[in-house]
Amino acid sequence: VIPRPFEYHAPQTLPEAFALLGAHGDTAKLLAGGHSLLPMMKLRFAQPDHLIDLGRLAELKGIREENGTLWIGAMTTENELIWSALLQARCPLICEGARQIADPQVRYRGTLGGDLSHGDPGNDHPALMVALDASFVLQSAAGQRVVPAGGFFIGTYATLLDPGEIMTGIRIPVPPPGTGYCYAKLKRKTGDFATAAAAVTLRLAGANVEHVRIALTNVGDTVIRATDAEQALTGKPLDAHALDEAARLAMAACNPVPDLRGDADYKRAMAGEMTRRALETAHERAANPART
Ligand SMILES: Cc1cc2nc3c(=O)[nH]c(=O)nc-3n(C[C@H](O)[C@H](O)[C@H](O)COP(=O)(O)OP(=O)(O)OC[C@H]3O[C@@H](n4cnc5c(N)ncnc54)[C@H](O)[C@@H]3O)c2cc1C
Repeated sequence: VIPRPFEYHAPQTLPEAFALLGAHGDTAKLLAGGHSLLPMMKLRFAQPDHLIDLGRLAELKGIREENGTLWIGAMTTENELIWSALLQARCPLICEGARQIADPQVRYRGTLGGDLSHGDPGNDHPALMVALDASFVLQSAAGQRVVPAGGFFIGTYATLLDPGEIMTGIRIPVPPPGTGYCYAKLKRKTGDFATAAAAVTLRLAGANVEHVRIALTNVGDTVIRATDAEQALTGKPLDAHALDEAARLAMAACNPVPDLRGDADYKRAMAGEMTRRALETAHERAANPART
């Protein structure tokens, strides 16, 4: 299917992009990698009159560490995340997650900021960002605000982004040494979205779990943080009983929609299984940091 005609704009600076957004209002759409927006335009679910391409904005590119915080430009592609030596060393969960997204073609063009801004519950970065306690820098002509990942996703294709705002960057506190991590994703084939997936970060104090985050992909209308499971695990060893209980509580937090990937019961069960696998791997990595 062919999209409706539109006018293409390629601003060179952020103020130029804000001016275009101001001039064209809700008849305009921001274009990042285009791998979610263009399919929607071809299906005519989205019919913008103006496309504002973020691809030339240097302010939205790059990965760096500043005072214990990682800053990733919103226009950073999946492959740039995967290939980043800084992320591999300081935050390997992002590389592990990005490697499981879509296929090579999509990973060359698709961006972190686009994946997050789209608000698709099937997208993987929301869970990774919630597990990492990330926050998002949202800029408009009026200024800038910083929003925690935990509250940013408010429903299917709905986020806290206001009209006129651009996500410029993502901030992630560098996980302390000894942080175990895992993204466990079940998908039917390469290039498919998750049937269910779990992102986990975990730290130990002696034999007990001191810190744990569990965030689930594609088993509700937006990313789900399994807070009851986190609370049940904290302060105790991660033994077989604790794993069973965490999987049970994660399943109880889900509200999956049946589709070609399975019915609701199957998806809920797979969310429990992905939680269990991600916790086991994260625990192993936290207990043996030299091997990870
Ligand atoms: C075959 C296929 C398989 C896929 N599989 C997966 C998968 O397994 N996991 C997964 O996570 N994703 C998957 N995707 C989606 C892919 O990762 C997209 O690239 C991503 O969802 C959107 O990023 P983008 O850069 O392409 O954004 P675009 O498609 O350009 O934009 C998406 C939306 O976000 C808005 N937007 C983009 N950037 C910004 C910004 N900086 N500030 C404000 N708004 C912005 C746009 O206006 C648009 O509404 C798949 C896509 C395809 C085509």
